[in-house]
Amino acid sequence: MDRPQGRDSSGDMLLQNYRFGKTLGHGSFGRVKVAEHLLTGSKVAIKILNRRRMKSRNKSSEEEKVRRETKICRLFVHPHIIRLYEVIETQAEIYVVMEYVKSGELFDYIVEKGKLQEDEARKFFQQIISGVEYCHRNMVVHRDLKPENLLVDARGNVKIADFGLSNVMRDGHFLKTSCGSPNYAAPEVVSGNLYAGPEVDVWSCGVILYALLCGTLPFDDENIPNLFKKIRIDEDVIQEVVRMGFEKQHVVECLRNRIQNDATVAYYLLSDNQSPVPSGYLGDQFQEPIEYGPVGMHPNGTLNVPDGHQFPQDLRPQLMSETKWVIGLQSAAHPREIMTQILLALQKLNVRWKTIGPYNMKCLWYHGSHNPKGMSSSHGQDNHCVNNESLTICNDYNAQSMVKFEIQLYKTEADKYLLDLQRIQGPAFFFLDLCAHFLMQLGVLN
Ligand code: ADP
Ligand code: MG
Repeated sequence: MDRPQGRDSSGDMLLQNYRFGKTLGHGSFGRVKVAEHLLTGSKVAIKILNRRRMKSRNKSSEEEKVRRETKICRLFVHPHIIRLYEVIETQAEIYVVMEYVKSGELFDYIVEKGKLQEDEARKFFQQIISGVEYCHRNMVVHRDLKPENLLVDARGNVKIADFGLSNVMRDGHFLKTSCGSPNYAAPEVVSGNLYAGPEVDVWSCGVILYALLCGTLPFDDENIPNLFKKIRIDEDVIQEVVRMGFEKQHVVECLRNRIQNDATVAYYLLSDNQSPVPSGYLGDQFQEPIEYGPVGMHPNGTLNVPDGHQFPQDLRPQLMSETKWVIGLQSAAHPREIMTQILLALQKLNVRWKTIGPYNMKCLWYHGSHNPKGMSSSHGQDNHCVNNESLTICNDYNAQSMVKFEIQLYKTEADKYLLDLQRIQGPAFFFLDLCAHFLMQLGVLN
């Protein structure tokens, strides 16, 4: 038994509560050791993170990751998520004291068994999904789900570990960081696109399910660019379709929107001839199509508009079958033009705002303060851009009718911009009302 040395006295005192044992695993930040909590005799796993090593690599981001992991996990209590008991800091090291999981990584379990029987895979998968759902419900996205980070306890139950790459989701905000193991990464992650969060974990869960049942990875290649190619829409096949005389952007759009035409039929024929479609369930074909209204509100308060509804002025109605749902409003206009239109619409609704960045504003609106016809109001239109204090103080209207929200314009693809509205404070129905008026001003709703 050895005890890692620390220099900070309070940290040292706390470390005396534990007797350290053998190393359980090596991770990107340091070792994980088994230890005994002397007061109770319970076994724990302790992740030891060397501050100097973290600093030498990337001071701010590595420490930030650790801080994030410990902050997130300390609050979590779930049968399929590793419990975090305490974090002990010394000058040289950070000790993260966790629940000890005896049997080890699900990765080794799969390697040992080759592949799992459906019953066992189902049990593991249900437990993983239950833990992942708990994270998502608590606004945390793991972003590094893979069998190496799923531990199996002595009773054969899965525990999700390693929240080092996790992040806290904020309603309506997108994430962009490419992280996690490339084999388990979603197409939007390997393409460097925006993602809301949960969808990338869901993709990784799909890859894990495949690994459980087949004992191999669905996307694998020693060459990382080739691997990414396999994960994305197949670029080679698209190029072949383009050589037949179709325009690339058109092909990609039609594939995304699942439109059936000459280009997509050619794409699927070429693609299937390269790698035949495995036989599977056909139940999907008999399912009733789900119909959506033209504009909706996501339960988390984010605005949903079908792709193809362009703004500012360019509203192009599409057949319902051709619509694809995205979060927020999309436009191909120049970002400055979009912002101008947004500010004009906000001004007409008597919204006040504070500029956070060129494409990001915190806004304040009082329900009932807008002019329904969108005409200039008695409050004037000259001073809508305000300072922080003005966003919190307004005596003209009842504070209960106040809605605070944030506006952010994101760049999604080459020439597409996505507008997102997020409620910060105030009644949800008033926020919905504001969104409706805002869409009317932009000409998306009539
Ligand atoms: P990293 O972020 O560096 O990948 P992990 O948290 O994944 O670190 O830990 C590295 C390895 O240590 C794991 O893959 C696992 O083998 C082992 N390990 C981590 N936590 C525990 C635990 N609570 N119980 C048992 N083994 C663990
Ligand atoms: Mg890990």
